[in-house]
Amino acid sequence: MEKINWSSLYQQLDSVTPLPVDCGKLCGSKCCTEWDNGAGVYLLPGEEKIFQGLDWCNTALIPKIEAAFPGEHSYILHCRGKCPRRQRPLLCRTFPLTPYIEAEKDIGLVFDEGGRLICPLVQLGDMRRLDPRFVRRVLSVWKRLSEYKAIKSYIIARSKEIDNCRNDPWKKLLL
Ligand code: SF4
Ligand code: SF4
Repeated sequence: MEKINWSSLYQQLDSVTPLPVDCGKLCGSKCCTEWDNGAGVYLLPGEEKIFQGLDWCNTALIPKIEAAFPGEHSYILHCRGKCPRRQRPLLCRTFPLTPYIEAEKDIGLVFDEGGRLICPLVQLGDMRRLDPRFVRRVLSVWKRLSEYKAIKSYIIARSKEIDNCRNDPWKKLLL
């Protein structure tokens, strides 16, 4: 896959956070804790190279059958709940939002339902409460990333999962 300019994407998200105040104080930075056994953050294709040999984290190759990016190796990053802020991976910068593509429409954003059990912002489910600068930059970064075929396929697959989840009667009981 064509090389992604990670530092440029990271830079766009360096100075924005979901709320204008530190939302980690609301929840004790839950999304940085190992809230489930073996939980970690997915890395996008090629992003793993940035994290090799760093002392605050390690990366693990995901078995091919579970790989998120067609035709690419997929890695997960495990950390100890603390990292140098400027080094955090992309999905930590864009959480609690995730990209979503509705049939025939442009890429948009929705809350990452995978974070519902831990994140008060996902539970609130109101994007108007987020810092608009954060929302704009996250969208711009995902638009840029969707130009890469493997990442576009990942977004489409995730969007289908989101649709299935919305139609799941058990899920409806929880919302
Ligand atoms: S879990 Fe949600 S509210 Fe808490 S730090 Fe993460 S994004 Fe912010
Ligand atoms: S890499 Fe950093 S931001 Fe991401 S979960 Fe770990 S401590 Fe939190």
